[in-house]
Amino acid sequence: MKYQRILLKLSGEALMGNQPYGIDPERIQQYAQEIKRVKDTGVEVAIVIGGGNIFRGVQAQNSGMDRVQGDYMGMLATVINGMALQSALEQTGVYTRLMSGIKMEQVCEPFIRRRAIRHLEKGRIVIFGAGIGNPYFTTDSTASLRAIEIEADVVLKGTRVDGVYTADPEKDPTAKRFSTITFSEVYQKKLNVMDMTAFTLCQENNLPIIVFDMNKPGNLFNLISGQEVGTLIN
Ligand code: UDP
Repeated sequence: MKYQRILLKLSGEALMGNQPYGIDPERIQQYAQEIKRVKDTGVEVAIVIGGGNIFRGVQAQNSGMDRVQGDYMGMLATVINGMALQSALEQTGVYTRLMSGIKMEQVCEPFIRRRAIRHLEKGRIVIFGAGIGNPYFTTDSTASLRAIEIEADVVLKGTRVDGVYTADPEKDPTAKRFSTITFSEVYQKKLNVMDMTAFTLCQENNLPIIVFDMNKPGNLFNLISGQEVGTLIN
């Protein structure tokens, strides 16, 4: 396999499937199967899950709520998604641990770096919930930070789009996909890969990012086996 330890970032919105809100059970089961398939090859898998399908801090601010309060609500939303993903994964027969950036001991472990690494070494899938535990950050930043902390080989950003394009492919039919691109090109061309905090963290720590379509069956597995899937940023 091309990678030994991966950090997979899944957005909350991806879990909605075709629903307007919440979690689509079929979608989450499909993701669990894809992840198990990769896990079974011996690759160590850590996952950061978003919360946008349930709550986003910025939306709260737009409707007059305190931003920080909204961000904490968003972080709690990621724990709900993490619990759902944990269940779906365990139904496939893999061992998992959910670790939270905000302490909630009745529900999951607190994030402790050495412990997270130990879980991975023991073959458990580790899901990081509650972001980094601070407002004004995103789960993309969480993915970058946790990936660096656990010394992952790569951040895999699973999206609905199969890579980074010259323009938004959902709006511009002439948009072309990059197979690889450098961090500085992404920056110069103002391409939207991740928020700047998340992006800079990866750049400064030489951590490659792959943007790929998580909804295409087999994509995650093909990527790990070394096939060219999505866009590699390094
Ligand atoms: N959030 C936060 N700090 C973090 C991670 C997340 O405050 O470290 C909040 C923020 O309000 C964000 C929400 O949680 O909007 C949900 O996360 P995100 O928007 O990144 O989820 P995704 O877009 O991946 O579904």
